[in-house]
Amino acid sequence: MTSRLNIPFDNSFSELPDQFYTRQEPVPVKAPKLIKVNKDLATLMGIDPAELETDAGVQMLAGNSVPDGASPLAMVYAGHQFGGWSPRLGDGRAILLGETVGTDGIRRDIQLKGSGRTPYSRGGDGRAWLGPVLREYIVSEAMAALNIPATRALAAVETGNKVLREEGPLPGAIITRVAQSHIRVGTFQYHYSRGDKDALRTLANYVIDRHYPEAKQAQTPYRALIEMVMDRQARLIAKWMQVGFIHGVMNTDNMSIAGETIDFGPCAFMDTYHPGTVFSSIDHAGRYAWAKQPGMAHWNLSQFAQSLLPILHEDAQVAVGIGQETIDEFQDIFSDYYFEGFGKKFGLLTLQNGDPDFIGDSLKLMSDNEVDFTLFFRHLTGFARSNLGLDVNDENHKEKLLDLFKDPQALTNWLPQWQARQDQEKTPPKERLEIMRTSNPIFIPRNHQVEAMIQAAVRGDYALFEQLHSILSAPFDEQPENVLYEQPPKPEEIVHATFC
Ligand code: AMP
Ligand code: MG
Ligand code: MG
Repeated sequence: MTSRLNIPFDNSFSELPDQFYTRQEPVPVKAPKLIKVNKDLATLMGIDPAELETDAGVQMLAGNSVPDGASPLAMVYAGHQFGGWSPRLGDGRAILLGETVGTDGIRRDIQLKGSGRTPYSRGGDGRAWLGPVLREYIVSEAMAALNIPATRALAAVETGNKVLREEGPLPGAIITRVAQSHIRVGTFQYHYSRGDKDALRTLANYVIDRHYPEAKQAQTPYRALIEMVMDRQARLIAKWMQVGFIHGVMNTDNMSIAGETIDFGPCAFMDTYHPGTVFSSIDHAGRYAWAKQPGMAHWNLSQFAQSLLPILHEDAQVAVGIGQETIDEFQDIFSDYYFEGFGKKFGLLTLQNGDPDFIGDSLKLMSDNEVDFTLFFRHLTGFARSNLGLDVNDENHKEKLLDLFKDPQALTNWLPQWQARQDQEKTPPKERLEIMRTSNPIFIPRNHQVEAMIQAAVRGDYALFEQLHSILSAPFDEQPENVLYEQPPKPEEIVHATFC
């Protein structure tokens, strides 16, 4: 069935040879019901949001009709999952409908997730239940508002079907996910592991054209590709860490070549700062804990570089050298992004030799005192503002900072060190404060709020979903009417584990 929706599809991935995907249509559902359309994103993508809200639009978002110009397919990929090799994964519950080129000139994939079984479904039902769909909607949009590269949510619908999970039958839903592309490290690994050098070259050239056209100018474009992917990943992981984000499943099949946060499964933001924080119920060994994320990204990128070896250089020995040398730069590149970003959070804009130690010691103090990560930086910003006489509300941020520490004396001892370092900054105070403010969100999608939102939605009440979505669209702004949403969970509200 086709519909007369006017989506300006401009597909490129479906033009690639067929070893990259299997053509597959979404499987229809019973009673589609619209939850939300992301109007701004639709407009940016060249799509009329009002069309998505019509019956034909909702039927498309539910996978009940395939619009003109779409070329639906399931992408194939492989991946290391928790370090173990899976030679073939692929979109087991997602369909790529096609691409549009937005008013900003950016090409984006439109994908339905939860749209039924595909040839790559590994025993699962190809479906998603409402909880993960709403979590992804809220968290991916929050990431975008935090200026962190992420896949986006274009829409969400209920399907009217139940899906069976351990907890019992749950309401089914589909999220329309938008990405600069869905090509992963695992996509390269798939073709590498099959020894398909032609496919590798085709894929690498496609990725360079689509995401890294500057690489074409380099002497060794595939080496430049590795460097550029590595740079985007290093920057991304540093940004995650600076808002306390823990992805939870940093498998190579969940690492986007375009450098976007992808696959919001058991991801979570930490409340109390501790570098070993893990939420995912399946991450028993803490492999993907907050502080382990850069090491894991480095490991994943080594897999990426290895996958490119067959096309990196005619001489295999030289290729290995190039791949290894390039990847070994990760730690330094990451460190620069990490300290630059954390420096800004502390109001330190021109890093000095002692700053990495100062930042490390300060974080240590926070974990020793079980301090809420977000509130600490939020009130430190407020305190800096009042110190400079720029706080219009004149809240007592120092009092609030002291309240966060188990041992308030520890903060009292720390503040003069921080102040002394602040005094050496040359940037004009107003400018410095603005950078501090926009580095320290007031609102993050706290786990207990996301859980409460999901529970309400399962009962048919979407008020909290709308509320969270609205608050998180302006995470750096003071919202006095929403001050309750700044708060960490009460002991009985703490969510200890998240599920895929
Ligand atoms: P994910 O957790 O979404 O990264 O999934 C990893 C792989 O497992 C995907 O590539 C899918 O092929 C498969 N998969 C996950 N969930 C389902 C499901 N509900 N039905 C079928 N396949 C699934
Ligand atoms: Mg995945
Ligand atoms: Mg997942």
